[in-house]
Amino acid sequence: MFDLQNIRSQFPILNRQINGKPLVYLDNAATSQKPVSVMESWQKYYTEINANVHRGIHTLSQLATEEMELSRKKIQKFINAENDFEVIFTKGTTEGINLLAYALTSGIKSGDEIIISYLEHHSNIVPWQMLCERTGAKLKVIPMDENGILQLDFLDGNLSEKTRIVSVNQVSNALGVVNPVEEIISKTRKNSDAIIVIDGAQSIPHFKIDVQKMDCDFFIFSGHKMYAPMGTGVLYGKEEILRKIQPFHGGGEMIATCSFDKTTYADLPFKFEAGTPNVGGNIALGAAIDFIEGIGHENIQNHENALLEYAQKQLLEIENLKIYGEKAHRTGVVSFNIASIGIASDVGMILDKLGIAVRTGHHCTQPIMDFFNIAGTVRASFAVYNTMEEIDILVNGVKKAQKMLL
Ligand SMILES: *Cc1c(COP(=O)(O)O)cnc(C)c1O
Repeated sequence: MFDLQNIRSQFPILNRQINGKPLVYLDNAATSQKPVSVMESWQKYYTEINANVHRGIHTLSQLATEEMELSRKKIQKFINAENDFEVIFTKGTTEGINLLAYALTSGIKSGDEIIISYLEHHSNIVPWQMLCERTGAKLKVIPMDENGILQLDFLDGNLSEKTRIVSVNQVSNALGVVNPVEEIISKTRKNSDAIIVIDGAQSIPHFKIDVQKMDCDFFIFSGHKMYAPMGTGVLYGKEEILRKIQPFHGGGEMIATCSFDKTTYADLPFKFEAGTPNVGGNIALGAAIDFIEGIGHENIQNHENALLEYAQKQLLEIENLKIYGEKAHRTGVVSFNIASIGIASDVGMILDKLGIAVRTGHHCTQPIMDFFNIAGTVRASFAVYNTMEEIDILVNGVKKAQKMLL
């Protein structure tokens, strides 16, 4: 049973008022709100356990280690990784991609090629550009059409033994377009030996993920977009590759032995987890997984699809309103502009006065904005706790903004 009122009651922030109006929170692609169970898990760690992990033999240190490793196992199961040591804790997607791009450096040489897509977040563009600068490799970009659909024909002509890395997101944060990662992966496997990286920041809150079935080499996501605290995230990687590549940060926790002459690295996953981790956050990420599994992926997806469908239908009735990626398969996001209103942020400001939180701007995806020749969009993005009534409030708010700004 999907009990929306019960779900909403677990998010105290949804009861607050903004500018005298009930909050309508539709900025979930930027960060989701946190349920009480996640906040309590975090608080319980700091109230009852707080100690550093892995080093101490005292009781609290052992408890902290146990709880964090339990959370790692939960994540392993959640994404169906083969081993728990393939789950590396990070502080988010951005750190995960940077870690990986750095760790892969020594395997990349001048003339190698790295393929990304037009639909990437800046954090799945810039780290690869930096890797290209370090090594002389070349960045190639899968193009998209005016519906925001990637043109996979491009791969047929561009995958070769020169292709070392293919890194794409599963869901675009700017448009909500769901990319056919299975097809991208199978084409890549057939025509190259490239390492396949999936940016799952926008898919993990919405879809059941099975990294083995997907057959990616790396799957990277943030905790804070899936109901967990900020400053948490995961880099999943296949054991074979993780063993081969170099660490990113050096320091405590990631060494086996350390002397001034030579340092040997710790085993997985600790080789990639230098320094004190975000223990409380990583434990609370486990609580966020419990929250998601308690509702069930199918229930979440059905509800969010209904919200998206309804929002799209209602918004398209507004004159001159264009939805970017309208005809593409999408999830969780509707990104739009009203032709007669030049500036998305003006709409965002009026919506805020009505208590509605949406994002306006380029959404860290300037190439997509350049493609459509716009400065930004208004983006409403959904989570499991959003309601049809909130869509009505959004649509009425947009109509009001249109009247005021014309
Ligand atoms: C949010 C996001 C990122 C960056 O995540 P951070 O949590 O800011 O590190 C990367 N890719 C996509 C698709 C995103 O939505």
